[in-house]
Amino acid sequence: MANPSLRIGHGYDIHPLIEGRPLVLGGITIASAKGLEGHSDADALTHALADAIFGAVALPDIGVYFPNTDPACKGMNSQLILKKAIEEARKLGYELLNADITVIAEAPKLKPHWAAMRTQLAETLGVAPSVIGLKATTNEGMDATGRGEAIAAYAVVLLTSTD
Ligand code: MG
Repeated sequence: MANPSLRIGHGYDIHPLIEGRPLVLGGITIASAKGLEGHSDADALTHALADAIFGAVALPDIGVYFPNTDPACKGMNSQLILKKAIEEARKLGYELLNADITVIAEAPKLKPHWAAMRTQLAETLGVAPSVIGLKATTNEGMDATGRGEAIAAYAVVLLTSTD
């Protein structure tokens, strides 16, 4: 059967916010009293986006490609993970049409950083910045994200067949 012409993908990630770590989100470092904890740079936004791309082409999640038990992945720049995801999708004959990303964070305010994030993510993916939608919301004080203990991200992508 020929490749379907369109494939949708969804990704989700969450990392704890702790003191003493830089806050890396969407491939940029943001001034913040707390940063995300994780084996890599813990960029929850980029992880959700990469998982959405892997999922769209029915490949395993990023934990399979980049295990958090692998010393080589320690402190890793997650743009490398995202690059791997789009490369694997392209090998299977798909290109990213658009991505829609929602970050759930109580603080800091992310609006001033959207442009820089979009530029970085577009560069990593080799796509136009206009295909990357970024938005944020709070959890209204509820749950770990609402208490400022974590940042979560959801990503939806649409891929088109290049065959
Ligand atoms: Mg993660």
